[in-house]
Amino acid sequence: MRILIIEDERKVAAFIQKGLEQEGYAVDVAHDGEEGAYQVENFDYDAAIVDLMLPKLPGLELLRRLRARDLGLPVLILSAKGAVENKVAGLDAGANDYLVKPFAFAELSARIRALLRRGAQESTTLRLADLEMNTATRTVTRAGRRIDLKQKEFSLLEFLLRNARRTVTRTMIIEHVWDIHFDSVSNVVDVHINTLRNKIDREFPTQLIHTIRGVGYMLTDERP
Ligand code: CA
Repeated sequence: MRILIIEDERKVAAFIQKGLEQEGYAVDVAHDGEEGAYQVENFDYDAAIVDLMLPKLPGLELLRRLRARDLGLPVLILSAKGAVENKVAGLDAGANDYLVKPFAFAELSARIRALLRRGAQESTTLRLADLEMNTATRTVTRAGRRIDLKQKEFSLLEFLLRNARRTVTRTMIIEHVWDIHFDSVSNVVDVHINTLRNKIDREFPTQLIHTIRGVGYMLTDERP
């Protein structure tokens, strides 16, 4: 899951970025409204956190622009403006949620999870055959057996589960699981896939992670 933070207060942006990265998200930051609009229009994000008072392009204008272009990106407004009329204006401009600063990181994180669920129109459970992931408790089991994953492994498996039975390319994986500064020449995707295979597939009769030669990978319980 890749998230964009549009926030001109660098300390706040860095704080959120660090927290979300620790939870396994790929996170990019834009420090003004124009930069934010550019990134939203040119990269594929799963959610955005948008400040209202932004240089160059105010948050509300940015939102209207997004909605006018019919980009169905889930957006959470994060603002020091806590008055009811500000919240109403934000939600009317197309935000999906509104959180007032100062905020507790745990609440921001829970709201992001809720947004991502809403975006995907699904519950907290992702499932394929006997593999099950709970995105709220961040637990994974296969055939009822608990599997411990590191953050990036979890994010990678989540992306594969959300795209189960579809071929995903390395580029798609990089765009959703790693951030904009990622060096796409390295073989980090393959390395993480191998680690996942060891944890998810090795001790089970049915292989779920398949290599689609020359293209990428597919998570499936059928022959790809
Ligand atoms: Ca601001």
